[in-house]
Amino acid sequence: MLKDEKLKHLKGRLNNVTEEVVLKMLRDMLQRKEFEDVCKDEDCLLDMASYALNRLPAKYVATSKGEVYSKTEELEQQHSVDLLSVVTRAIKVVSENDNHDNH
Ligand SMILES: [Zn+2]
Repeated sequence: MLKDEKLKHLKGRLNNVTEEVVLKMLRDMLQRKEFEDVCKDEDCLLDMASYALNRLPAKYVATSKGEVYSKTEELEQQHSVDLLSVVTRAIKVVSENDNHDNH
């Protein structure tokens, strides 16, 4: 019988590599001039990441941290075109529908 604590530990070792790749790509793309007026507060960033992640396949690996990064590079190379277009769309959709009150 697995205890809750053990489940929490297992969950902590499950990594969706796609999350790393999407966040890195978001950071890189938002530095571009064409996106300089896009809101980059935490809510918008999370909306963009969620939008992209819901449209990309999850890729889970159970590894130590160092290994995740090597898998990240692999994934970036394999799907860079898809990733780029989905992340670009995420930025556009979220920035066009940005209705937070705090900015
Ligand atoms: Zn915002």
